[in-house]
Amino acid sequence: MKRLRPALQYLWASPTTAVGLLLATLALVGKGRCRIVSGVLEVHGGLVAPLLRRATLLPGGAAAITFGHVVLGRDQTQLDATRYHERVHVSQCERWGPFFLPVYLGASVWALVRNRHPYRDNFFEREAFDAELRERSKAPR
Ligand SMILES: [Zn+2]
Repeated sequence: MKRLRPALQYLWASPTTAVGLLLATLALVGKGRCRIVSGVLEVHGGLVAPLLRRATLLPGGAAAITFGHVVLGRDQTQLDATRYHERVHVSQCERWGPFFLPVYLGASVWALVRNRHPYRDNFFEREAFDAELRERSKAPR
């Protein structure tokens, strides 16, 4: 699929980014931090960490989660550690635009009906983990 121009990518992903911005306000409660890294708002702290620990379906919670051009992380270390994986989700959001969240959830349901894991076997997660694995295999040791 041909990629959109950067401004259009932000616009196309903006409905999903809006969800991320809303959740990012949770970082304002407490000692939350945010910064822009390569055009993506990364947020951690405040109520973001307890949200990621408790409000996901993953055992133990999530280290980070992406909504459009917003990445919420438990802390700076987790944001750094998950950056490549989460950037794949940013690209997916740019590709799917306002359809990303429903299609992502649909992919989890599709995995479940096939008796697969709704997270690990979700198409979008597999793409992110595969890309991360390829990237890590290229890194010098
Ligand atoms: Zn992921």
